[in-house]
Amino acid sequence: MSELKIAIQKSGRLNEQSHKILEECGITFSNGAGVLKARATNFPVEILFLRDDDIPQYVEQKVVDIGILGENMVFEKNKDVIILEQLGFAQCRLSLAIPKEDKYSGPEYFNNKKVATSYPKLLSDFFTENKIKAEIEEISGSVEIAPGIGLADAVCDIVSSGSTLMTNGLREVATILKSQAVIIGSKKLTREKEDILKKLLFRIRAVKSAKVNKYILLNAPESSISDICRILPGMKSPTILPLAEKGWCSLHSVVREDEFWERIDQLKKAGAEGILVIPIEKMIL
Ligand code: ATP
Ligand code: MG
Repeated sequence: MSELKIAIQKSGRLNEQSHKILEECGITFSNGAGVLKARATNFPVEILFLRDDDIPQYVEQKVVDIGILGENMVFEKNKDVIILEQLGFAQCRLSLAIPKEDKYSGPEYFNNKKVATSYPKLLSDFFTENKIKAEIEEISGSVEIAPGIGLADAVCDIVSSGSTLMTNGLREVATILKSQAVIIGSKKLTREKEDILKKLLFRIRAVKSAKVNKYILLNAPESSISDICRILPGMKSPTILPLAEKGWCSLHSVVREDEFWERIDQLKKAGAEGILVIPIEKMIL
């Protein structure tokens, strides 16, 4: 029987969450130290543990069928693959940073400068677009120390909070790309593999919707129900059950978490009491 080959990062920032999202889709496999391949026991997939840099090439060459990695790496490698789904984790940006005491008036700052990066293609595209003539020093890691040791004048690297830049005396001045983890796939799969992929994407979407939505229960006077439904517009035909206390009812529905936090005061003003917000494990739309 056919199985889908999935590449995930062997170790690093993506490994744990890639493993977790597959597990939340009901796919169990062991990820022991030194293991390069694992077969799921309950879904027709084989997992390969690779360096994230190699995943786009392996997908293009059909050594694996799909892979989980950061968009930054997908666009840097620019291989013949397609992005199938954004996964919402490993959110970061690819940014340019300069010594914090330097003045920055715009991209022209980089003219005649040397910039260290692990993303030569994306940086070179940025310089071309902005008509900048700069030298690119390609290094594979610890980019942020390059100016401190005299290897470069500035850096182009992945940033999330910016604290690594700060500890190295650098200041973020421009963002080239925003990124998150995605699933990429080969352009053409066999019918059987396509069917397995469809099932997997269906499960991933159910897990993703569950994360942004919450199950909400609240008590309210019957007379407030229409107001409450107006306050939470995402609440489509809620379940309304009578309470033992006359004139009161319990309302159950699903709301987006961000919507709920924005409207909590209005809900209370409208008469909602005993509000419970509960996580949802899977949500099939
Ligand atoms: P490998 O050994 O597999 O080549 P690596 O050292 O190149 O690993 P990591 O540092 O583990 O890569 O980062 C992998 C991906 O995680 C990055 O390409 C990026 O998409 C994302 N990432 C990196 N740093 C951060 C961060 N600080 N916050 C969020 N996501 C990040
Ligand atoms: Mg890497």
